[in-house]
Amino acid sequence: MDRICSKASCRREAVATLTYDYADSMVVIGPLAPARAPHGYDLCAEHADRLSVPQGWQVVRHQALGQAG
Ligand SMILES: [Zn+2]
Repeated sequence: MDRICSKASCRREAVATLTYDYADSMVVIGPLAPARAPHGYDLCAEHADRLSVPQGWQVVRHQALGQAG
């Protein structure tokens, strides 16, 4: 299954899944989810790294994204 970065005009392979937690004003970035999350966005390494979030939001990164596998 091909997973491509969800950013417009980006065709790189997705390596991370970003999830918005609206209740806690939190953005969670973790390894690519096996299935699409309801509020999840797949991102390539570059976009996951450059991610900017709304003011007042917190970013939580789970483990190393560069992990092989
Ligand atoms: Zn991208």
